[in-house]
Amino acid sequence: MNVLVVGGAGYIGSHCVRQLLATGHKPIVLDNLVYGHRDTVPEEVAFYPTNLGNEKEVGKILRKEKIELVMHFAAYAYVGESVTDPLKYYFNNVASTLHLLRCMIGSGVKKFVFSSTCATYGEPASMPIVETMPQAPINPYGQTKLDVENALKAFAHAYGLSFAAFRYFNAAGAAEDGSIGEHHDPETHLIPLAIDAAQGLRDPLKVFGNDYPTPDGTCLRDYVHVDDLSRAHIAVFEKLATPGTALFYNLGTGKPTSVLEVIQAVEKVLGKPVPRTAAPRRAGDPPELYADSTKAKTELGWEPQFTDIESIVATAWKWHEVNPKGFAK
Ligand code: UDP
Repeated sequence: MNVLVVGGAGYIGSHCVRQLLATGHKPIVLDNLVYGHRDTVPEEVAFYPTNLGNEKEVGKILRKEKIELVMHFAAYAYVGESVTDPLKYYFNNVASTLHLLRCMIGSGVKKFVFSSTCATYGEPASMPIVETMPQAPINPYGQTKLDVENALKAFAHAYGLSFAAFRYFNAAGAAEDGSIGEHHDPETHLIPLAIDAAQGLRDPLKVFGNDYPTPDGTCLRDYVHVDDLSRAHIAVFEKLATPGTALFYNLGTGKPTSVLEVIQAVEKVLGKPVPRTAAPRRAGDPPELYADSTKAKTELGWEPQFTDIESIVATAWKWHEVNPKGFAK
C-alpha cells in the first residue's frame, strides 16, 4: 500500500516508516521538520518538507504518489507548553489536521491512522484504562487530540472516512539495530534524560514527586516500545477496508512501572548510577496511567514484543550510546 506518513521524520513516525518498508509497503514522508529530523528518512523514501496548511501542495502529493492511506504523527506534544501556549496547540494539532483531512476527502483518500494519546483520559477513576472509560483531558494537549478523535467520528459518518485512532501510553525505546531513536529538543522524557544523566551529559535527573499514593511514591506509567506501536499501525490496515469504519485502541503493555524502576533499569543496562535529586511533583502528572490493551490484542492480533522495562531501555541505550547528541539534522 502507498502510505503517506505525516510526521514521518519524528520519533514514532520514523520507526513506522522502517516497519512499512520491512512489511512491503511504500511509505512517502511528509514532515515540515519543525521537530522532525531529515536524517531519519531512508534514502529510498520520497520526502516532502511541506506544511499541512498548504492544501494545494498536499493535494498534489496525494494524487502524484497515489496515496491509499495516511498515517498522521505530526503534532506538538509538550504538555506544559500546551497550557501556556494553547493557540499553538490548537492550530498545529487541530487546524493542521483538518487541512490534511480536507485534502484527503477532496482527493478521495479515505483511510486514516491517527496518533492519539492516553492523555485524552485525563485522570481516570480506575486502572487499567479501557477504551470505553470517559475521556476528560486535563490539559490542552490531550484536548486537541480528543477534538480530532471527535472530528474523525463525524467525518466517518458524513464522508465514509475509515480510521483508527491509537491512544498511546508512554512511547519508549529505539530501533533494535540502533539505526534510529528518540531525539527531542528540548528533551523532557524520563528514559533519555536518565541515560544522559548517567553519562554525565546533563544535570542530575529530577525525580518529580516521591509522595504519590503508589508503592514507591513515584508515578506509575506504561512504557511501550516504539516498534510495538508501529506494528499496530500496520496490523490495522485490513480493518479499514469498509468505508465509515471508526476504531479506537489503547496501546500499552498493561504493566505499570515506577519512575524509580525506570531509573534502576537504566542503571542496570548502562552499569552506571543515575545521579538524581528529589523535585516537586510536575503539574498535570497523574499518579498512575496504564492500559488495558485487550481490544488491540483481540481485534488486531497485536502483542507487544517488549514487555519489560529493561529490554526497552536496552534498545534506547543502543541508540544513545552511539548517538549521544542525537541526529545531526
Ligand atoms: N519524570 C521525572 N523526571 C523527569 C522527566 C519525567 O520524574 O525529568 C517522570 C514524570 O513525572 C512521569 C514519568 O517520569 O511520571 C514519565 O514522564 P515522561 O515525561 O517521560 O512521559 P509522560 O508520562 O509525561 O508522557
